[in-house]
Amino acid sequence: MLEPTIGKGLRATGRRLTRTRKAVLALLEDTHQPLSASEIYSQLQDRHVAIDLVTVYRTVNVLKELGLVMQLDLQGQSRYELKEGRKHHHHIQCRVCGEIVDLLLCPLKKLTRLIEEQTQFIVDDHTLEFAGFCPKCQ
Ligand SMILES: [Zn+2]
Ligand SMILES: [Zn+2]
Ligand SMILES: [Zn+2]
Repeated sequence: MLEPTIGKGLRATGRRLTRTRKAVLALLEDTHQPLSASEIYSQLQDRHVAIDLVTVYRTVNVLKELGLVMQLDLQGQSRYELKEGRKHHHHIQCRVCGEIVDLLLCPLKKLTRLIEEQTQFIVDDHTLEFAGFCPKCQ
């Protein structure tokens, strides 16, 4: 579902939160790990929320547009976590058990200024995710 960029934000904020959107938000609020679409799907099944995988994908995209959910890509997989009330941060994921830890810091501020100086771009986003072996899996 492609929409023109102009006016998209306005339309998006006007959208009401459907039951499905609320269920996904509630799930992400209860989880301490960013979830993939298929994990959201199976955990909603456990909660007896009637939903299919296509709807999960559509819902997380709407929630992303609304600025309520953040997408991150860890080891080639897209995951989603609540954005509301959370500061910008990065993640590290264990290659063995898949545990994800929030890194509550951003080391890229200086680099961002340098990039802006060199390119005359205004930088408003970046991604930086780590992978490795957690203490239990070393
Ligand atoms: Zn591990
Ligand atoms: Zn996080
Ligand atoms: Zn950062």
